[in-house]
Amino acid sequence: RNPEQWCRSFSYFISQCLIKDFEARPSVTHLLEHPFIKQAHGKDVALRQQLAALIQEQQEIGIIMSLTSYRHERINTRKTLIIQSCPDDDLVNLEFLDEETIICHLQKRYDELQVYTYVGDILIALNPFQNLSIYSPQFSKLYHGVKRADNPPHIFATADAAYQGMVTFCKDQCIIISGESGAGKTESAHLIVQHLTFLGKANNRSLREKILQVNPLVEAFGNACTAINDNSSRFGKYLEMKFTPTGAVIGAKISEYLLEKSRVIKQAVGEKNFHIFYYIYAGLYHQNKLKAYRLPEGTPPRYIDSENCKVMQDIVSGKLYKEQFDAIQECFRNIGFTEEEVNSVYRILSAILNTGNIEFAAITSQHQTDKSEVPNSEALESAASLLSIGPEELQEALTSQCVVTRGETIIRTNTVDKAADVRDAMSKALYGRLFSWIVNRINSLLQPDMNICSDDLYGSLCMNVGILDIFGFENFKKNSFEQLCINIANEQIQFYFNQHIFALEQMEYQSEGVDASLVEYEDNRPILDMFLQKPMGLLSLLDEESRFPQATDQTLVDKFEDNLRCKYFWIPKRVELCFGIQHYAGKVMYDVNGFLEKNRDTLPADIVVVLRTSENKLLQQLFSSPLTKTVMFLACVWPVHRCGVFTVNVCVQVDTMEMMRHPEETTNMRRQTVASYFRYSLMDLLSKMVVGQPHFVRCIKPNDDRQALRFCKERVMVQLRYTGILETVNIRRQGYSHRILFEEFVNRYYYLAFRAHQMPETSKENAVAILQRAKLEDWVLGKTKVFLKYYHVEQLNLLLREVI
Ligand code: ADP
Ligand code: MG
Repeated sequence: RNPEQWCRSFSYFISQCLIKDFEARPSVTHLLEHPFIKQAHGKDVALRQQLAALIQEQQEIGIIMSLTSYRHERINTRKTLIIQSCPDDDLVNLEFLDEETIICHLQKRYDELQVYTYVGDILIALNPFQNLSIYSPQFSKLYHGVKRADNPPHIFATADAAYQGMVTFCKDQCIIISGESGAGKTESAHLIVQHLTFLGKANNRSLREKILQVNPLVEAFGNACTAINDNSSRFGKYLEMKFTPTGAVIGAKISEYLLEKSRVIKQAVGEKNFHIFYYIYAGLYHQNKLKAYRLPEGTPPRYIDSENCKVMQDIVSGKLYKEQFDAIQECFRNIGFTEEEVNSVYRILSAILNTGNIEFAAITSQHQTDKSEVPNSEALESAASLLSIGPEELQEALTSQCVVTRGETIIRTNTVDKAADVRDAMSKALYGRLFSWIVNRINSLLQPDMNICSDDLYGSLCMNVGILDIFGFENFKKNSFEQLCINIANEQIQFYFNQHIFALEQMEYQSEGVDASLVEYEDNRPILDMFLQKPMGLLSLLDEESRFPQATDQTLVDKFEDNLRCKYFWIPKRVELCFGIQHYAGKVMYDVNGFLEKNRDTLPADIVVVLRTSENKLLQQLFSSPLTKTVMFLACVWPVHRCGVFTVNVCVQVDTMEMMRHPEETTNMRRQTVASYFRYSLMDLLSKMVVGQPHFVRCIKPNDDRQALRFCKERVMVQLRYTGILETVNIRRQGYSHRILFEEFVNRYYYLAFRAHQMPETSKENAVAILQRAKLEDWVLGKTKVFLKYYHVEQLNLLLREVI
């Protein structure tokens, strides 16, 4: 065998051994003499040596010890906790299956504070809007490695299933959390990370702490208070936790998607800027350091002083922001940022706040009417000083622009409005790039230890559990370009869910000749087509219009009206600059004001040139490094799924920041718009998700007032309907969620019916022999695969553990 195969089978063996109770700590010889190992590798001296070294290492990092001692603790805990599961934990077991029964059932459970319910292998999570005492380490122990039906449904059980799937089958896993804004996705993601760090515990405590602090740090920069949620995620996040084949956590990596940068410069009524701005202002205020960062003292900076939130009052009287600032400092330190880096981050944040305070006035002279100046230079000087650039140069870049026409350079002056736009574009660019830098820095600090990973045995075998927490579906009174992107992303996730649960299932039944009554479901593919198709989809039309300098938001609406012929799109009669979309989750009206500008997201070349002169190392990195990304683009709107593999048709190099690298040369180049970058992000995300075995968590918001114990039937009903829960219940009840090739099935489970050394032929007959021996019922045979119900695999794995 080649080393990789060998290591997979070894890691599989060891995971099974460890899950079984070892009374005493097994010695290296003890494990080497185990019949399974002996038989497989007994004669190969080199392999035995490698194996001995691997076992030694596992013992040194404490995995063997922790897993064995933990088993005993769990048994004790179960005696005291008295937690019971019951058949109605799973909607699939309900006798009557209609909307009313399901909703009453969920309501009854919610009233009893049972916020989690299964639909087969999918978890429904109702937001409790109160702290429940079910997330302690005791609960982590309770939910580790046991049969799912032993305990009531829980988010830890889903995390555990992903972990066990990874360790047992050496396969990457991916947990997809979806739901409306405020439904509980981010909290669920935290709980999953908490449980996975518990499961993957090496004796490297600091790594565990680092991983637990990633979310709070990134969320301080990427979350904000909105009308719906005080801690709303304003970016999408895919967190990959990295493990060794035996399940020890060794690192993590975050990918961020579509930060809502426009929030830096403006927030809707009643909403706030990103948390970090309040934390830093309050923290520096309480440490008497506002002066050092040249922040104004009496009135908070304009960007965080929107009319409806009394920021100064909160900052002076409350301790909350200050404590949060301290916590963020702690996160920076623990994760491994240097003092210098943290200081640079604070300087850039303070510079952004000062930039927001720069005001412009018109200069009207005989010859020039559209020139602006900065009458009060305090904020401008502060921003320039914090960014380590010259104030005159900054003022120049804000109030004028170089234009190259036919080889000649002309200086054009900016009007007051134009100068303010340039100022805001600079703030957004600074914040967006700072955010990406922080994420990249975290990734390099949490990279798996190269000592472990460069080792051949681990290097190729580092495995991931990915957790997707993206902004939920949004429908406000006023919906803009940001909501459109968020809702398209949600359409894509819903499509992925449908593909997995319904479409693929049906396709496979047909091709395998298995009879199963097909379940109807709402296919949202036509809506996605309308958005993403090239060249006539909504995003392509938007990009095309953004390229015309003369285009206006009205010409954009006209273009949509002329080209989008689809029942999901309409232009209302009496409302101007507006269009409606029938999303899978409901009707949304979009306000087109500012669409083109938001999509262009231009940062004038003059600003880039000035920022590049900075002496601040971090700022230099933000604006000088070629932030290029080579990405895989999918030629079709979405991938074609064939037996679990998405085919990628074309590879295109996309130079996302080309313009930034050579601003002077790229004036005529096609610029990277937000829409095209968004399209790339979606495909990038999808390509990450499809390589793993998916697990779904559907978060549901029981009411819109964030009240505990309040179950609003209508609101829940709407969410159950659009997420297709009723259909999911049906298909999970009738369907076969696991379809395994005969060969793979026999390889995996032959111990159940044959002797360990017997290695039978991987035939259909032997697969049947195993199924019969395991006394399973209701399975079906296809042409090449065994079709199993969702609970069969759990039963088989439990039997396997007993046999090995
Ligand atoms: P989303 O990410 O879906 O927008 P969040 O995860 O931020 O929503 O949840 C919104 C709020 O709901 C949280 O701030 C918290 O107050 C509450 N919440 C969500 N899940 C839980 C939970 N499991 N236990 C207690 N409170 C929760
Ligand atoms: Mg969130």
